[in-house]
Amino acid sequence: MSREYDDELFSFEDEVLTAEDPHHTPTWRVLIVDDDKDVHQSTGFALANTEVLGRPLEFLHAYSAADAIRILSEQTQIAVILLDVVMESDDAGLQLVRTIRQDLGNSEARIILRTGQPGYAPEMEAIRDYDINDYKTKSELSRNRLYTALTAAIRSYEQIHTINASRRGLGMVIRASSQLLARQGVSEFAAGIITQICGLFGLPPEGVVCAYDQKNSSAQALIVAAAGSLTNCINQHLDALPNTGIADALNQTLRERRNHYGNHSTTLYFPGQNNHDMAAYLQTEKPLSDLDRQLLEVFCSNIIVTLDNVQLLTQLKDHAYNDQLLRIPNRLAFVHALDRALSHQPRSDITLALIDIDGFSELNDALGHQHGDNLLKAVATRLQQQLPAGTLLARVAGDVFGILANTAELSAEFLNNLLRQPLCLEQLQQNLTATIGLASLELIDGSGSDALKAANIALKHGKQHRRGGISHFSRDMEFETRARVRLLQDLRSAFERERLFVVYQPQVRLSDRQLIGVEALLRWRNDDGSFVAPAQFIPLAESSGLIISLGEWVLRSACHNLHIINQHSAQPLRMAVNVSVMQFRQPNFLDVLDRALSESAIDPRLLELEITESVAMLDAGFMIALLNQIKSRGISIAVDDFGTGFSSLSYLEQLNVDRLKIDISFVRQMEQSAGSRRIVETIIQLGQSLQLELIAEGIELESQAQILTAMGCHEGQGYLFAQPLELPILLEHLHSH
Ligand code: C2E
Ligand code: MG
Ligand code: MG
Repeated sequence: MSREYDDELFSFEDEVLTAEDPHHTPTWRVLIVDDDKDVHQSTGFALANTEVLGRPLEFLHAYSAADAIRILSEQTQIAVILLDVVMESDDAGLQLVRTIRQDLGNSEARIILRTGQPGYAPEMEAIRDYDINDYKTKSELSRNRLYTALTAAIRSYEQIHTINASRRGLGMVIRASSQLLARQGVSEFAAGIITQICGLFGLPPEGVVCAYDQKNSSAQALIVAAAGSLTNCINQHLDALPNTGIADALNQTLRERRNHYGNHSTTLYFPGQNNHDMAAYLQTEKPLSDLDRQLLEVFCSNIIVTLDNVQLLTQLKDHAYNDQLLRIPNRLAFVHALDRALSHQPRSDITLALIDIDGFSELNDALGHQHGDNLLKAVATRLQQQLPAGTLLARVAGDVFGILANTAELSAEFLNNLLRQPLCLEQLQQNLTATIGLASLELIDGSGSDALKAANIALKHGKQHRRGGISHFSRDMEFETRARVRLLQDLRSAFERERLFVVYQPQVRLSDRQLIGVEALLRWRNDDGSFVAPAQFIPLAESSGLIISLGEWVLRSACHNLHIINQHSAQPLRMAVNVSVMQFRQPNFLDVLDRALSESAIDPRLLELEITESVAMLDAGFMIALLNQIKSRGISIAVDDFGTGFSSLSYLEQLNVDRLKIDISFVRQMEQSAGSRRIVETIIQLGQSLQLELIAEGIELESQAQILTAMGCHEGQGYLFAQPLELPILLEHLHSH
């Protein structure tokens, strides 16, 4: 809270609310102004031991106008002034009234004018303008009359004083509650209530505010804020309070849902949202006056609205900064924490880690979202258990966790061990691996979101090159990523501007080199005529999802052109089209396929889809069913680049494919390396025993073709026979043969 605000509080309290000294019984102060000593004496004598409206009278004495002015400017809360009109001069009394009202600004004190000279009457204007209560000759003021006049004046003073005080008090309450609205969260709000109430009533800050959760009624209310000697009880239950009286009072208030005013304390009740009620205990040392109580009631009803808002804001803030599933900070909170960490110097010893669960989306698809949620919860719990205290753990994306910790704590060994033990999930052991991207804050120039971006670059890099491993962010990586982003933009625009086209590489029967089919291969020609290699842009299209529309376009072009090709060919040729795993995952893939077939009116038996080992990453049941659907249309399936990574042979059999394509790398090294040669032999034998067709790709030399033929491979593709050709050249080629 600002100093300025403190001052405001206490100036208010000095002004109005602490004037009553708690250690003395309150009195009505009456100032007698008269140059005649006898009048002072007789008035005092007449009213000795008299109580008016429950309080004794206290007399102050002034013997001249100057005397009176001094007393009035030094003493506060003078209820009534008994004022002699004629003193130094005939109208000294009236002039004094003017000074009191105008110069001293005292509008509350009630004034009874007295004069010794009957018949001398002040002007009516003076009585009206200066708010004079009564005008009496001294002889008129017998004890009884004096008492009656004084009582009427005191009653009127009290009313005026109360109205003024409560007006100021209300202003204060409104300012206090708007100050409270700015408070962040319930406990700060509660602390604010203590400060405000103590300020309002000039109490020493010895109070407790507690929050109460009725939903869990077996639990005790929690102390969310406390002041003075009780500060150390914050965040504990009520039974932690040294004084059981306070706990009892708070419990009673929460139970009875109303304010309690005691002789030494006051307990206030604030109904909250969703039964999160609050109560505040105040040590008042004396009973509160009616005015104080009225003010408190207004304060409470104001606060209730504010508390509602604070609780709503707290809820909103919770949603904004916390992951609702895992109950840990979310991406936004993580970015803020990074911002804070980056603003501290030095920051070289802080590292940000992103942990991405490998294959999570496949698991989620295969086992259902409920299982996926439980898996994430189990991972979060595991991480929380393993991470050193004080480490920040957040969920920054679907299956990506963020960790912010001292660099020394995030050793490779520590990170590798995090998920080494299987997770226990629904009584099953689940083994998981994760890819981890690290970024040392030392390398970050910008803000928290830049740091997150850097770690993400490392993570992406890891997913491409070192799945299941740890990658450290480096500046080179950043350049590489920028280049990739640029390339992807260029690819998109090339696709839109129809700069992509399909070429067709012939496939032959090895025995007589007869053309039997073609493979459709995508090409990207830059404006300057140079080419971008598919090995460069296809993975990019795959990781960005662009491959879905790109692949569909290749499929339709290939089918369309096969129709043309076959019009120029003596016997029907086959068309092989590469299909990426992303395309298979599209729920409408079969529709896309059917459309390409019906548009082009080709025989589905002439279409072959080339799949790669990465389909093994997809759920087996899903893939087997999909391939069966595809095959039921007459379309055949080839496994591309075979031998480079297809791990499970039984799975291969289940997938029910038609053809294996022996990878280019084995063909190329076959003659130099006995190992490659043996692999080729093995693949051919495997194909034969599974009754699959075989084709070798990348045949550049006659000798390679000979060896493959001798081994029993019947088909081939490669520069020896033909390069990938543009359609018109292929058609020419068909005519010339
Ligand atoms: P791939 O499907 O294994 O295609 C065979 C690659 O080997 C082609 O490279 C082809 O030009 C090249 N090749 C053929 N014969 C020879 C040879 O004798 N010697 C040498 N050194 N290379 C030969 P390309 O066209 O660069 O394509 C590379 C990869 O990009 C393809 O490998 C395929 O995986 C992918 N790709 C190309 N077009 C598409 C497409 O339309 N969709 C998808 N998903 N992937 C495609
Ligand atoms: Mg291929
Ligand atoms: Mg290949």
